[in-house]
Amino acid sequence: MAEPSDPLVREVALLLEKKPRISVLTGAGVSAASGIPTFRDAQGLWEGVPPEDVATPQAFARNPGFVWRFYDERRRRLLECHPNRGHEVLAAWSRRYPDFSLITQNVDGLHELAGTANVTRFHGSLWDVGCWEECVASPHRWRDETVPFPSLPPVCPYCGGSLRPGVVWFGEGIDPHVVQKAEAATRCDLFFTIGTSAVVFPAADLIFQAQRHGATVIEINPEKTPASSRVDLFLQGNSEIVLDRIEALLG
Ligand code: NAD
Repeated sequence: MAEPSDPLVREVALLLEKKPRISVLTGAGVSAASGIPTFRDAQGLWEGVPPEDVATPQAFARNPGFVWRFYDERRRRLLECHPNRGHEVLAAWSRRYPDFSLITQNVDGLHELAGTANVTRFHGSLWDVGCWEECVASPHRWRDETVPFPSLPPVCPYCGGSLRPGVVWFGEGIDPHVVQKAEAATRCDLFFTIGTSAVVFPAADLIFQAQRHGATVIEINPEKTPASSRVDLFLQGNSEIVLDRIEALLG
C-alpha cells in the first residue's frame, strides 16, 4: 500500500508541481469507496448478475423488464451514494490545473457531482435514457431522473415505444465524438489510469495511446492489472487513499 512517505507518492507530487497537461482515465474502483460495487472484484458478476444478462442489447431485446429492474434499482441506490475523497481530489485538480481532462468509464455521475470540470463519459450515464426503437422524433439520449419509473420498461415520450438505459452495453460502439475527445486527451504530459481493470476495450487502449504520445503513465489500483507492467509508475492502493496522500504533499 502506498504510504505518504512512499517515494512514488513523492515522485507523482513533484511531477504535478510542474503544472503539466493532465489526463485521467477512471473505472469502477474509484467509486468502490462510495458503496458502488465493481464487477471484476465479484468474480465477473455485476451486483450478483452476469453482465451478459443485463448489459447487452440482446439481453434487453429478450427481456426489457428484467434489464430495467436492474437499472432502476441501481438508479435508486445511487441516490444514496456520495463522492469519496478520490473524486474530491480529482475535482480539485480539474480546477487547479489549466489543462485537465477526465475520461470515465463509470456511469454513476459521481465525478460530476464532486464538481469535476471537463469530464468525458465514455460509457454513458445511468441517468440518461434513449428510445429503444431510435424513433426519429427523439434525441439520441436525454437525461431523465425519474426514480422509480411507474412502469418497466418506461415509455418513450416521443413514440410510445420502450425506453432503454443510456449506458453503452457490451458489443455496442462508442459515440465517435466521445472517442475523438478521449483520444485527444491522450496527448498530455501525465496520464493517470485509476481504478480500472484495464480489460474493457477500447477504453483500456487510451492508456497505451497516451504512452505512445510520450506521456508519463501512472496507475493507481490495489491490484495489478494487464497495464501494470507497462506503466511508468504503479502506485498500489485504493484511489481514495493514494490520491489523498498525493494531495496532502501538494499542500
Ligand atoms: P472493473 O470492475 O473491471 O475493475 C475495477 C478495478 O478497480 C479493479 O482493477 C480493482 O482492483 C480496482 N479497485 C477496487 N477497489 C478500488 C479502490 N478502492 N480504489 C482503486 N481501485 C480499486 O471496472 P472497470 O475497469 O471500470 O470496467 C468495468 C465496466 O463496468 C466499465 O465499463 C463501467 O462502465 C462498468 N461499471 C461501472 C460502475 C460505476 O459506474 N461505478 C460500476 C461497475 C461497473
